[in-house]
Amino acid sequence: MNFNITVLDGDGIGPEICSGAIKVLNAVGKKYAHSFNFTHKLIGGCAIDACGVPLPEDTVKACLASDSVLLGAVGGYKWDNLPVDIRPEKGLLGIRKAMGLYSNIRPAKLWKSLASASPLKYEIVKGGVEIIIVRELTGGIYFGERGKGIDGNNGEYAWDTEKYSVKEIQRITKIACDIAAKRTKKIISVDKANVLESSRLWRKTVHAYAEKYYPEITVEDMLVDNAAMQIVKNPAQFDVVVTSNIFGDILSDEAAQVTGSIGMLASSSLGDGTRGLYEPIHGSAPDIAGKDVANPIATILAAAMMLRDSFNLADEYTAIENAVASVLDSGYRTADIMQDNCKKIKGSEMAELIAQLI
Ligand code: NAD
Repeated sequence: MNFNITVLDGDGIGPEICSGAIKVLNAVGKKYAHSFNFTHKLIGGCAIDACGVPLPEDTVKACLASDSVLLGAVGGYKWDNLPVDIRPEKGLLGIRKAMGLYSNIRPAKLWKSLASASPLKYEIVKGGVEIIIVRELTGGIYFGERGKGIDGNNGEYAWDTEKYSVKEIQRITKIACDIAAKRTKKIISVDKANVLESSRLWRKTVHAYAEKYYPEITVEDMLVDNAAMQIVKNPAQFDVVVTSNIFGDILSDEAAQVTGSIGMLASSSLGDGTRGLYEPIHGSAPDIAGKDVANPIATILAAAMMLRDSFNLADEYTAIENAVASVLDSGYRTADIMQDNCKKIKGSEMAELIAQLI
């Protein structure tokens, strides 16, 4: 099959890690007889330098015309002092909006051969951990009404509002159920229904939707404070977690930390169609850019998620995952995940080894 992929390399280590992912995708294409066509476009700081804006119109057009989008990372010291409206991150928010992406899916996987990188005790993580957090991305308190003022009695004050509609909750529930249907058929819905009205609607809606459209899926509820505790106490109990924007923001960083290695974690943002935006969870790492030490695995796994979730190529996804596991089991490590008795290699060598194993 033929697939058109827009590649947004971005800044810092972005071009290095995207080039690693492209190498692996080309190996997959060769083995499974697919043709991946890559079109590179600008986003973030490099777009500001070239066009004066973090998200040129031409980039948006290319993304909307392609089958899916692979993103490296944006940002860097050079653009840190620009006005908020033309900061590199604006490009990210802009492309998510333009592509109608309302969910963020972050699998936090602890690979068995990297168990000692976890800050948790070995007994807690020895069985492996894989928590997939499905976070609502365009609603809730980050987008609700807000304000500030001065009150005669109490002085300065500020407020934000958490608001969710049934429609917003249903569509994110659908994404979580679709993922769970291919896995353990269980989702944990995280809320704060003992206090928040919006959480009570969240809980009611998740259950009603899942029961009606996905009867094979079991939905369990967990309060967010308990979820934060359980992720470090017994992370293996989680598989797919669905939650609101703010709770997902916090819990996905906590779950990522359990794995101990930021260079290994991928994420995707999806909307109604099959086209998605796939990227590593880490940033542009300007401190190591251009040194060929950046770990490309997060971006390679993001590309693998694209194959499975946008192109429905499950075997090809598994081939990449197995190749990554095999390279790690053979003791190869980039600097960020280096362990005793392992062989330290460059970022480009890591991508090459994974591509060879496909
Ligand atoms: P960062 O994730 O870029 O780096 C944090 C630390 O992790 C650094 O020490 C870095 O060297 C290391 N690191 C990150 N990715 C790595 C990899 N693949 N291999 C090896 N080591 C890796 O976060 P930061 O330093 O807070 O931010 C740097 C820039 O990235 C900022 O401009 C920030 O705004 C931007 N940022 C962008 C995104 C994105 O594009 N989605 C996300 C987060 C931060």
